Amino acid sequence: MPQKMLVTYALPYANGSLHLGHLVGMIQTDIWVRFQKMQPETQCLFICGCDGHGTPIMIQAEKLNISPEKLIDEVKENQERDLKDFWIDLDNYYTTHSKENHTLVETFYERHLKKGNISKHTIKQAYDPEKNMFLPDRYIKGECPRCGAKDQYGDSCEVCGATYAPTELKNPYSTLSGAKPIEKESEHYFFKLQNYTDLLKQWMHKQTLQSQVIHKLDEWFEMGLREWDISRDAPYFGFNIPGESHKYFYVWFDAPMGYMASFVNLQKRRSDLDFDAYWGKESTFDLYQFIGKDIMYFHTLFWPALLQGANFRMPTAVFCHGFLTVDGQKMSKSRGTFIKARTYLNHLNPEYLRYYLATKLNERIEDLDISFEDFMQRVNADLVGKYINIASRSASFIHKYFDNQLSKALLEPELFKTFVDKSASISEKYKNREFSVAIREIMGLADLANQYVDAKKPWASIKDPQNKEEVHAVCTMALNLFRLLTIYLKPVLPDTAKKIEAFLNIPELHFEDRHQPLLDHTIQIFTPLLKRLEKTDIDALKKEALQHAQNNG
Ligand SMILES: [Zn+2]
Repeated sequence: MPQKMLVTYALPYANGSLHLGHLVGMIQTDIWVRFQKMQPETQCLFICGCDGHGTPIMIQAEKLNISPEKLIDEVKENQERDLKDFWIDLDNYYTTHSKENHTLVETFYERHLKKGNISKHTIKQAYDPEKNMFLPDRYIKGECPRCGAKDQYGDSCEVCGATYAPTELKNPYSTLSGAKPIEKESEHYFFKLQNYTDLLKQWMHKQTLQSQVIHKLDEWFEMGLREWDISRDAPYFGFNIPGESHKYFYVWFDAPMGYMASFVNLQKRRSDLDFDAYWGKESTFDLYQFIGKDIMYFHTLFWPALLQGANFRMPTAVFCHGFLTVDGQKMSKSRGTFIKARTYLNHLNPEYLRYYLATKLNERIEDLDISFEDFMQRVNADLVGKYINIASRSASFIHKYFDNQLSKALLEPELFKTFVDKSASISEKYKNREFSVAIREIMGLADLANQYVDAKKPWASIKDPQNKEEVHAVCTMALNLFRLLTIYLKPVLPDTAKKIEAFLNIPELHFEDRHQPLLDHTIQIFTPLLKRLEKTDIDALKKEALQHAQNNG
């Protein structure tokens, strides 16, 4: 029986389009999932969706003069299209603003209420007296209490780097109305996270978490877990708290339940999926959750505690990744390095980004840089110059002299075996999310294959009719090595692999197919599979990114 696993990636927020920052984690997760789906011993599902609640969505919808429902429907559709075009192989993409999620949120709430994990008390918060609403910190600006710089956010100063509480800002104002915030009292609901300290510690030590995550968790445990405010006052876009007409669940309360809601929604198309088998307390299936490092607290403390207390299973592991920088700096609209997924797609092949990210990704929580100069060199040297080159320099002989037919025998079984044996190591790297090492090993094999063709020189040998049989065997050998490389690269380059399957005239490749060489078999005409990346393509991409930035102010 294959091990069943459910994989999730953090739900993108529904107030705008996806950008390259989202794609780092999406692509990381997708490569991992595609690798798993190519193994006979695992059966893997990949689900995600958009996170549709909260003040920013309400404000954004107001600005656009549409309903929040319409906003998130449109954004979801766009996000889904972008993800599909980057070959993200999701089994379902859903939304937290759904009936399924509403039911789940009430279930969680009721179960925790019964267990005495919910408390209520009154707190004071900043309030906008003109907009008549409580203000999240991000909507309050003012002068830095240290250097006096104007228009600084409520937590830190961009000019001098000081950090402080929003109440310390001088001359504070609401960014929504310009009014001076007042303090106002309101009764809030809290989840007693501290009740779960011991269980969370046990969970942390049982799981395969990254060492940096464990370190962070230790810090948080040391500081002591505190109760967590899970309610917001109207006006708010979210789910009402049962029995309250003007209070809502905080977006972060219902967002992670969106993973489950996406699963429940998928069950409508997949009647074979059993909810309890995946989510029940006794589940023996795996649950892997990939996230960005900024939301670690929610996913390694709140979420496992909410699951545990509501009688559901906890995650098998939570995998965090770092942030993206472009050309060594934070993505910036004014430099044209804040690039939306769609802007990229308008100019460059999505697989180039997948490949480039794979050459950089590892299991640690490190920020990752796209330098476009390096990007171009890697894609051209590795993919076009090494990998595809093996096919383009041998396929033409098979067509011209051998009627598209591969030879009957394998010329170099030892070399073939070297490639097959490398699978164990490459698979290990994929499994452990050490993609950059996997790629180095695969490209090492591509070098070997090219050296082989260089040494055999079919273009010279073919001139002597006596060598015809040898050229047939050499080119067949080269295409067999190319096929093995294609298996290993398929999690990263799914579309190219599909085209190669058509060229080789074979069914979908899996890792198990590596053992059997392809011989005495008719292939199709070779057509160029990937084109060189030119500087003009990258310039055009940056130009469009800059135009978007200017148009949006
Ligand atoms: Zn300052």
